[in-house]
Amino acid sequence: MTTRFKQRIKGQVYKAFYFINKLSNLLYPRTCVECEQDIGSEERDAIFCASCATQLVHLSGPVCFVCSAPFVSEAATSHSPSHRCGECRENPPLFLKAITPFLYEGPLSTAICQFKYKKKPHLAAPLARLIANDLSNISTDYVMAIPLHSFRLRGREFNQSLLLARQIGITLSLPYFVDVMIRTRETPPQVGLSRKERDENIKGAFKVTQPNAIQDRRILLIDDVYTTGATLKEGARTLMRAGAKEVIVATIARMPAATF
Ligand SMILES: [Zn+2]
Ligand SMILES: [Zn+2]
Repeated sequence: MTTRFKQRIKGQVYKAFYFINKLSNLLYPRTCVECEQDIGSEERDAIFCASCATQLVHLSGPVCFVCSAPFVSEAATSHSPSHRCGECRENPPLFLKAITPFLYEGPLSTAICQFKYKKKPHLAAPLARLIANDLSNISTDYVMAIPLHSFRLRGREFNQSLLLARQIGITLSLPYFVDVMIRTRETPPQVGLSRKERDENIKGAFKVTQPNAIQDRRILLIDDVYTTGATLKEGARTLMRAGAKEVIVATIARMPAATF
């Protein structure tokens, strides 16, 4: 095959892809999840328009060394970079670190709500990509999700944390575990409960079904939103007690402290 012929075929393939892309944009116009404006065909994987994307709040200031809770002033970490928040000192979690890069508000809270409650599982990949940078430096063996009880799963049809964990695994080239930890009992929703009530509510809700799979492993445990951390703390506690070597937890976003 001559080089010229190869180039011609290559050109035809590109043209075909271009038209398929145009056609799919025409048939399924991609709109911003927040303001519903057309995003345009340039940003292939974007879920926010340029204006809404600027409203995402990435937590880049001083944060708790363990749970990443933002501190109000630089003073807390200026002399001691490993400074812990009051909650982590009083009630130390069994996870090594929580990575919660964005604030749960504005366009990101809309996207997470649509993903979770409006049955839009296709948002898992773009949401996972959003936090991939913040997870790129961690060392871990496996990705896992906070399990949903089968009762809740029936109502929602999919476990949003599992879809996120799978996408994060793909993005970071890490294997992910399914059904190694299950939820043994349904817990009432955590919304509206105090920090202490949340801890009590979730206590003993998980069980590791295959302890051999996690023995001496470093695990990245995924949930969608970090509120008080009660669910992730209980998940990490269950995994550590079953023999895991280390647990790091990660969520896309963190609930502002004033809202719970
Ligand atoms: Zn928008
Ligand atoms: Zn903390």
